Amino acid sequence: MQANGAGQGQNQELACLSAAQNGESSSTEEAHSNGLIPSNNNGNNVNNNNGAPSGGDPGAPASSAAAASGSEMGATLKKKKRLSQSEEDVIRLIGQHLHGLGLNQTVDLLMQESGCRLEHPAATKFRNHVMEGEWDKVAENDLNELKSLMHSPNAIVRMKFLLLQQKYLEYLEDGKVLEALQVLRGELTPLKYNTDRIHLLSGYLMCSHAEDLRAKAEWEGKGTASRSKLLDKLQTYLPPSVMLPPRRLQTLLRQAVELQRDRCLYHNTKLDGSLDSVSLLIDHVCSR
Ligand SMILES: [Zn+2]
Repeated sequence: MQANGAGQGQNQELACLSAAQNGESSSTEEAHSNGLIPSNNNGNNVNNNNGAPSGGDPGAPASSAAAASGSEMGATLKKKKRLSQSEEDVIRLIGQHLHGLGLNQTVDLLMQESGCRLEHPAATKFRNHVMEGEWDKVAENDLNELKSLMHSPNAIVRMKFLLLQQKYLEYLEDGKVLEALQVLRGELTPLKYNTDRIHLLSGYLMCSHAEDLRAKAEWEGKGTASRSKLLDKLQTYLPPSVMLPPRRLQTLLRQAVELQRDRCLYHNTKLDGSLDSVSLLIDHVCSR
């Protein structure tokens, strides 16, 4: 499933480093500082952490505690039983899915116990800053940090372009035309990337109101929806060891259901194709 064989070793290193392996003693402390697990925790008081899911934004990342891999507990587990790459992948898929459901404490514990991490800490920072619209932090720090983790650092220009486009549209929607113009001329144009698109973007300066802008740009407007969509696009430039593709487990399950439907000899085409309309617990088959 790894797209890039050359990245295999690196992926493993990034996704599931134990404290002992990487020598980052600070990450061990970080894991302890989350308040969930006391430093002398031996796994017996796991139940203390049970409780209602903390809810939160399902699109947001797990807390930094989950992102910080290599708690002592995880390191111990990894010493006992080395997880294979596919085992690590499955743990991360489950973690991402549970996080989407808001079961964040469970995800934290899962990552600690397994010694895996949901995503690279640089990706967590990046995600948070994008969702908060902290464009300067993204441009000045986060992208540089991610660049070193990317298979093709050239893609950074495309990522910058997408980010600046969002920044530009948000200024325009807020009626901050001068600021928008500054982004267009001072930041987007110097990238020398996709000049056709820049031309189109400059045309939006003429939009008389926000609704007009959203319709012309086919954009949801400043906020969570458009920023999540942007993040989904940005993620495609990052290796899965750094940031998982969005809703990855659902994607795989949908593929499985599609394959079963294709193989179904007497398939009733009136059945709706959503995941919820079939049971995942048995293979799909229509009776004759
Ligand atoms: Zn069928």
